[in-house]
Amino acid sequence: MYQRTVSRGLSLLLPCVLLVAGCSQLPLDDSRSLLGTQVTITIHAIDKDRLSENQLPAVMQEAFEEVARIQNLAQWRQLRSLNSYAGVEPYEIGGELIALIDQSYLLADETGWAFRPDLGPLTSLWAIGTDEARLPADWEIQAALARIDSTRFTVHDTVTAMLEPFGASIDLGGVAKGYAVDRACVVLHDLGVTAAMVWAGGDLRVFGEKPNGEPWRVAVRHPRDPEQYTAVLELRGDRAVATSGDYERYLEVDGHRYHHILDPLTGYPSRASVSATVVAPTCMDADAYATALFVLGPEDAVFLADELSLPAMVIAAQEDELVTRQTSSFDRLRASDEAVLQP
Ligand code: ADP
Ligand code: MG
Repeated sequence: MYQRTVSRGLSLLLPCVLLVAGCSQLPLDDSRSLLGTQVTITIHAIDKDRLSENQLPAVMQEAFEEVARIQNLAQWRQLRSLNSYAGVEPYEIGGELIALIDQSYLLADETGWAFRPDLGPLTSLWAIGTDEARLPADWEIQAALARIDSTRFTVHDTVTAMLEPFGASIDLGGVAKGYAVDRACVVLHDLGVTAAMVWAGGDLRVFGEKPNGEPWRVAVRHPRDPEQYTAVLELRGDRAVATSGDYERYLEVDGHRYHHILDPLTGYPSRASVSATVVAPTCMDADAYATALFVLGPEDAVFLADELSLPAMVIAAQEDELVTRQTSSFDRLRASDEAVLQP
């Protein structure tokens, strides 16, 4: 059996950043490898009463430190302990993780459980994107699904929660990047940044007005051709965009590709879409919605996105052709000179 795991650093969204020469350092950008991807922050404007340009490297540093803190919060000790104490006893995980898990369950409910935070038994079985990735036996998948169906998350007090039954597990991989982007924006804003873009692979958030009055331009990568865009969006104010794609992380077994977005109904990678892009007020929500819309496939995704008033575009492969569906609100965000902007 030939088996290969692929995990790409390629980004799904590309901010169209034009750096202008001048005496000001702004816009200033910086990138770090965090959360399994490249995280980029671009600062466009600051409140000059609170911040001077020579403080910008320190501001960048604090924002990246916040992203690193979320990386640890989502992956490490407390969440692992909550999972390993499942069915045994409550565990003190802290208020922030409780709020993250609660919000993830709300998103699960909104998306008809196409996104759900308690898929841990299934995501650890497949382990796509890690060295342990493998094609599980069907009975293993059915056993994991049964465990997921009976999962209960109970909050005992502001910092303590319990997971049941034994073997249940929370996986925040579907929202961690989005939440980290949101938190980086909060840190930048609190330190006196008035316009910035934070971007982590498929997740991006912008806030404020660019000094030149232009909208934020965000290009969505073509799911099959990294050299092309499928759409260029123009955003104003505080908005987040997330894209989930089947080409980012996958396992290849005997010529078949198994990617990292699992359908909670079947337990297998969803074949309904090749990419899903959504615009939402926060990046954490956008991250979860993108996963859910991907699982649902174009028709159901556009129906749900309209119901939730979310601009969205979903692309699927049907008989070797790519089919694109979008909400009218998404179409309205597309740049009128989109074709001219192609690289
Ligand atoms: P990416 O990190 O590539 O943007 P997503 O944001 O779509 O991908 O999240 C994928 C991760 O979310 C997976 O690696 C897994 O941990 C988890 N996951 C996979 N399928 C689901 C699902 N249906 N609901 C919730 N989480 C999921
Ligand atoms: Mg995502």
